[in-house]
Amino acid sequence: MGLSKTIWTNPTEFLRNQQPEDPVLFFAPAVLQATARRFLAGFPGLVTYAVKSNPGEEVVENLVTAGIKGFDCASPFEIDMIRRLAPDAAIHYNNPVRSRAEIEHAVARNVKSWSVDSHSELAKLIEKVPPRDCEISVRFKLPVEGAAYNFGAKFGATREKAVELLKTVAAAGFIPSLTFHPGTQCTDPEAWGKYIRAAGEIARDAGVRIARLNVGGGFPNHRMVAQRPDLDSIFELIDRTTTEAFGADRPALVCEPGRGLCGDAFAVADRVKAVREGEHVFLNDGLYGALFEFGQIGCIDRMEVMDPMGQRRHGAIAPKITFGPTCDSVDRLPGELPFPADIAEGDFVVFQGMGAYSTVTNTRFNGFGDLQRCTVLSLKP
Ligand SMILES: *Cc1c(COP(=O)(O)O)cnc(C)c1O
Repeated sequence: MGLSKTIWTNPTEFLRNQQPEDPVLFFAPAVLQATARRFLAGFPGLVTYAVKSNPGEEVVENLVTAGIKGFDCASPFEIDMIRRLAPDAAIHYNNPVRSRAEIEHAVARNVKSWSVDSHSELAKLIEKVPPRDCEISVRFKLPVEGAAYNFGAKFGATREKAVELLKTVAAAGFIPSLTFHPGTQCTDPEAWGKYIRAAGEIARDAGVRIARLNVGGGFPNHRMVAQRPDLDSIFELIDRTTTEAFGADRPALVCEPGRGLCGDAFAVADRVKAVREGEHVFLNDGLYGALFEFGQIGCIDRMEVMDPMGQRRHGAIAPKITFGPTCDSVDRLPGELPFPADIAEGDFVVFQGMGAYSTVTNTRFNGFGDLQRCTVLSLKP
C-alpha cells in the first residue's frame, strides 16, 4: 500500500498494492493502438470506430493517434465529442431513426453520411439534408438464423424495401450506398458473405451503382479461451466476396467495428465478496455493473483468479453459481462460472476482453458500480 502511480505494469501489480474494494477497469493503450493498426493494415477499405461500444475519450484519442479517421456516431452527444476530439475525422451518422432536431444538429456539424431503413425516415432526410456531396446508405437485413443477438430485430429494411429506398436515395441526388450489421461477436466469416452477396443483388435490382458498401461491425474480440478471433480470414472473405458480388461495379468498402477494436484493450478486475456456504460466489460487480453483457451474450471464460497477494489460484475447475452485489435476484451471471475450487473471499477475478459494452452500461444501482480506472502497460496478469 501507499505506492501511487499513474501507469502500472499490469493488473496484478495494481491489485496487490491497492487492494481495491470496487471493480477496476484496466486499460492498455498499447493494445488498443496495435488492434487499430491491425484493422488499418488488413481491412480492404475505410476503418471507422463505432463510438457506442466504448465512448471513453482516452479510447477515441488513442484511435486517432493510431490512424483511425472515421467514426460511427448515433447521437448528437457522440457527434459533438468526435468533432471536439477529432475535428478532421469523417462522421457517419448511422442510427437510422432520428428526430428532426437531431437531423438539424448533425447538418449544422457538417455530417455527410447517413443511414436509413424506412420510407418515413428517408423522407425526413430528404426534407432536411442538402444532398450535395452527401451519402445515404440504405440499411438492409436478412432473415435471422440462430444469432446470439438479433441485430435485425430493430433496424434494417427487407431486400424488397431496400431496392425501393436505394432508388429513392439516388433519385433525390444523394450518393447511394448500402450498409448492414451482421450481428455482434461474429466468429464465422460467412456472417459477412451472405450479406455482401445480397447487397450485390439489391444494387442490381435497383439499377443503382452504389458508391460504398459498409459491412458494419460485428468483428469479434477474444472473449473465450478456445476461440481466438481470426480477423485476417474475415478481411479476406469480405474482399473476395465483394469482388465476386459486384464485379466491375465494386464499391469502396467501409467497416465500423466497436467491439473488435476496443474489446481486448481492457480488462476488469472484480473482487470476491463472499463464497456463501462454499457454494455461491458473490462478486462486487454484476449484470447492473460492468458485466452487463454477460447476461446478453454469455460469460467470458478468459479470466484469472488470484489471491489478494496476486498469486494465481490453481485449483481444479469447479463451476459455481455467481451473483452480482445488488439485492435484485436477476443479478446472477448466466450458467455457472468455471472458477478454481480454491476460490476464496477477498480474491480477485480478472476478466479479459472487457472493453466493449461494459463502461457504458455500468449503472449505480443499489449504490454499487463505482468503477475505478487504471492504465497499464500490459494486460497480462
Ligand atoms: C453497435 C453498432 C456497431 C458496432 O458493433 P460491434 O458488434 O461492437 O462491432 C456498428 N455499427 C452500427 C450501426 C451499430 O449500431
